[in-house]
Amino acid sequence: MTRLVADTAALAAALGAQDEEPVGGHQHRRAVVMTMGALHAGHLALVRRARELADHVVVTIFVNPLQFGPAEDLDRYPRDLEGDLALLSGDGLLGDGDVVFAPTPAVMYPEGDPVVRVTAGRIGEVLEGGFRPGHLDGVLTVVLKLMHLTRPGVALFGQKDAQQLAAVRRMVRDLDVPLTVVGVPIVRDSDGLALSSRNAYLTADERRRALCLSRSLAAARSAADEGGASDQILAAAVAVLTGAEGVDSLDYAALVDPSSFEEVAPGATGPALLVLAARVGATRLIDNGELTLR
Ligand code: AMP
Repeated sequence: MTRLVADTAALAAALGAQDEEPVGGHQHRRAVVMTMGALHAGHLALVRRARELADHVVVTIFVNPLQFGPAEDLDRYPRDLEGDLALLSGDGLLGDGDVVFAPTPAVMYPEGDPVVRVTAGRIGEVLEGGFRPGHLDGVLTVVLKLMHLTRPGVALFGQKDAQQLAAVRRMVRDLDVPLTVVGVPIVRDSDGLALSSRNAYLTADERRRALCLSRSLAAARSAADEGGASDQILAAAVAVLTGAEGVDSLDYAALVDPSSFEEVAPGATGPALLVLAARVGATRLIDNGELTLR
């Protein structure tokens, strides 16, 4: 039976039990997958990969107030713990000895908002950081806390949130956090829409128009394959996003270095990441894709 624990003492006891077992046949004793719940197939891909890498899997479910801005959707963010547990116990995904840690904010922040926090530095100021000031600091602060609480050998993050993944990798390197970070490819619906808990907000018309994000990535990739310069590639992406059947407002479309998130210089060659953020109706969506600049 998967154990559901809601406080840090119960978590420590469950992990202690794992630690006492003989080492199993995997690369790591324990993997952690951190989520905000409202789970979908994208999250489950992380859990499946975690299962392959470790004897035991810990899934955390916590809607972290620190990473929401004052005007953002903290209160209406979808929450469905029962549905999440059903998904996690389906398909033999989680089993005996695995743990779901679903704390309340009072458990995570017993003395109120933490006084000392992690800062993402420059990577937290550009692009997502520009539109969501403090967001990545809030993410890194809870990620580091959850890393300490769950003591994993490996932590898995989705490439869907590419800037978050880059910031986590950087934190682990800069602060010598003793674990391995593994990125997992974006899971999409059959029509190309990247899965996201926030897709639940979309009306039928908005969902149709949201497809322009993945279409925009495809247009950019074609332009790159044809040898287009970075400004031509971006123009191809923006044309799709802002055309008929496009988004309601575009926050950014940028070609960046995949690890630093600095925008690539004109004339640069090699691997780059096209990152997009846009609003469709009231919903803010992000997407990204790798391409090669020639
Ligand atoms: P969230 O619950 O949105 O905070 O996401 C938890 C983890 O799942 C993060 O590492 C996300 O990047 C990852 N994730 C969310 N959606 C997807 C997706 N469509 N494909 C791959 N990973 C995802």
